[in-house]
Amino acid sequence: MNFSGKVVLITGGASGIGGATTRAFIKAGAKVAFTYLTSAEEAVRIEREAEEAGTIALGFKADVSQPDAVAQLFLEVEGTFGPVDVVFANAGGLIKRSRCVDATLDLWQEAMSINVFSTFLTVQAALRSMEKREAGAIVTMSSLAGFDGGGMGASHYAASKAAVATFTRALAKEVGPLGIRVNGVAPGLIGTRFHDTFNTPDGRAAAVERTPLRREGAPDDVAQAVLYLASDAAAFITGEILQINGGTGF
Ligand code: NAD
Repeated sequence: MNFSGKVVLITGGASGIGGATTRAFIKAGAKVAFTYLTSAEEAVRIEREAEEAGTIALGFKADVSQPDAVAQLFLEVEGTFGPVDVVFANAGGLIKRSRCVDATLDLWQEAMSINVFSTFLTVQAALRSMEKREAGAIVTMSSLAGFDGGGMGASHYAASKAAVATFTRALAKEVGPLGIRVNGVAPGLIGTRFHDTFNTPDGRAAAVERTPLRREGAPDDVAQAVLYLASDAAAFITGEILQINGGTGF
């Protein structure tokens, strides 16, 4: 896939799935802006890799769950690169596991904030220029958890990722007439620090056992799907949530 001349913005784009997607877009010739929170060293490494590949990638430290930070991000990104052609709203996370009976409202608010509100804010900022140009491709980050309810103690996370999927379908209807496509990805178990933090080796092995393709997903398995959905090869696909789970379900 060739994205040369295209401007791509990826949130949470220095680590895990976001990092693999940033690298895949760089390889495909795009100019990439990506956000990070704590992965400053990895961000610099990716910037260097882009230079070596003959394109440009710039990391921006930003908490994309905050409206002012997102506004500032778009000012800087569009000031540097011009209008954004492709957005991958990837930033998000589980925060911690908690059974519903023990969960606090703060935990639910944080889950909504980093998964749903960050997606809304990022996508809304991108739409301001996409709508004027009547072109653009948006990819959101849902999860298998948003469809099957997720693992134990993840109801706050599963509910937030279901909200992302529904938002994606709603938005596809709203902006389709303007030539803007909106799709999502819903990964199953992908081997990133997410599962290093929130899963156990036994839990991971059991998940692999339940997976017809008998392995964990790799970040690049998701990255390649994001590139496809953002590309002209998917020109008639919108409102779709692509399941990437080795056949586990949904
Ligand atoms: P990761 O921890 O490497 O990535 C999460 C990224 O989100 C990080 O870059 C982090 O800095 C960023 N982030 C979180 N909150 C943020 C905020 N407020 N502002 C800016 N950035 C923020 O783990 P990952 O597995 O690569 O996760 C990426 C996305 O994929 C997440 O949305 C996660 O929920 C989703 N996901 C992961 C899996 C999996 O199995 N790994 C499965 C389904 C969905």
